[in-house]
This record gives sequence, C-alpha cells and structure tokens, in this order.
Amino acid sequence: MSIAQNLQTVQERIHKACELAGRAPEAVRLLAVSKTFPAEDVRAAHVAGQLAFGENYIQEGVDKIEALRDLPLQWHCIGPIQSNKTRLVAEHFDWVHSVDRLKIAQRLSDQRPDGMAPLQVCLQVNTDGGETKSGVRPDELLTLALEVMALPRLELRGLMTIPDPVEGFESQVALHQRATALFEQVRAELHPPKWDTLSMGMTADLEAAIAAGSTMVRVGTAIFGGRTYSH
Ligand SMILES: *Cc1c(COP(=O)(O)O)cnc(C)c1O
Repeated sequence: MSIAQNLQTVQERIHKACELAGRAPEAVRLLAVSKTFPAEDVRAAHVAGQLAFGENYIQEGVDKIEALRDLPLQWHCIGPIQSNKTRLVAEHFDWVHSVDRLKIAQRLSDQRPDGMAPLQVCLQVNTDGGETKSGVRPDELLTLALEVMALPRLELRGLMTIPDPVEGFESQVALHQRATALFEQVRAELHPPKWDTLSMGMTADLEAAIAAGSTMVRVGTAIFGGRTYSH
C-alpha cells in the first residue's frame, strides 16, 4: 500500500470512529508520526494532503524540518526532552506534546526565538500511575498547567497521554477517559485561553481514544508502515 492509500484508510477510520461517537469528523485532527522514516516519505504524505507531522527523536526531527523547509508543514515534538535539547525544540518545532516538568517548559519559553509564533504546548500526563513512566502525575497537573500558562513564549493547548496497551475496546476507552476527565478539570478550574487539544490515540487504539474524546490522534505505523529500528 502507498502512503497516500494508507492516509486515506486512516482518515476513514477516524471518520467512522467520529460517526460512532456522535462527533463531527473535523473534531479530530490527524498527526502523522514520521519518526524513523525518511524525508521523502513525509514529502509523499504531504502530496497526499497531510500537513502535520510528529517526531520523537529531536535531532532526527530537526534534520527533516531542515530538509523540508520548502513545504508549509507543521512540526510536533512528541518525544522525551532532555534539558540539553530544549533549544533545538524551541528553535525548530511548532508544537511540543511532551512537556512534563516546569524546568523544561521554562527553558523552552526562554529559548523560543522572538520572531517565531509562540510554541504550542501540550502537557504529557501519566494516567497509568506507573512510577517510571514519563508524564506529570495527575495530582501535580493543575500546578504545572498554571505555571506554564504564565510563561510568555508558550501557548498552553492541552494534554497528551500514552497509556500502556490494554486488551479490549472498553478497557482502552476507560483508560483514555481518565485523560479526558483531567482535560475537563483543567478547563473548568484554570480556563486556559486556547485549551483545545487532547492528544491521544495511536495506530492500535485510535477508535477508543476518539470514543473517549481525543481531538488529535498520533498515527505512525498505519501510515508509514512498521518501523525497522528504534533509537
Ligand atoms: C511512535 C509514537 C506514535 C505512533 O505510534 P504508532 O503505533 O506507530 O501509530 C504516537 N505517539 C508517540 C508518542 C509515539 O512515540
């Protein structure tokens, strides 16, 4: 299958899931996760109409951003961020989904160049409660959200989650609903001005994520194929 055909299939899955959930198809955006795939594959997806791309590995993402400067693409950083990589993120990406502590948020704001639009930020939240997982703990989310709202070069847009894989649609929905509840809690208590993005759902669980209220699914495998290496 070509990338264009795969994109079409994923869009159909999204539309079907929206229909089943009684949601408008425009309510869910597709982020194409191009990690480990070459710039030519991103170009092919762009030809097929895709504009937003997600990268996990920061240097790899920056290399693709540089190679594809001629295209009007939107780049999302969705991978873990060490302090020594914040400058690369601040100077190249449009969005970041994986902010889970204040220190990283502060550095991103300080290092965001003046000439660029504010960096669009989702906070990664650890809804499973696993001690070793990245993501802010739910009981620390409101504090972090409030702190990020005060940073001048960042615009807080929502939450991102990567729940551990579970078997069965209902269990997947239940897990995603924890993130939805937190998303609504931040809205109700803090009213961030542009709070509109709940980034959850991947190739294996996008239907469940949409049923639970996702507004952005991050899909790699179903668009670009299986990944043959990871970092
Ligand atoms: C790799 C990755 C994805 C895409 O996963 P697929 O299962 O290939 O769709 C989405 N989100 C994050 C954070 C990832 O690392």
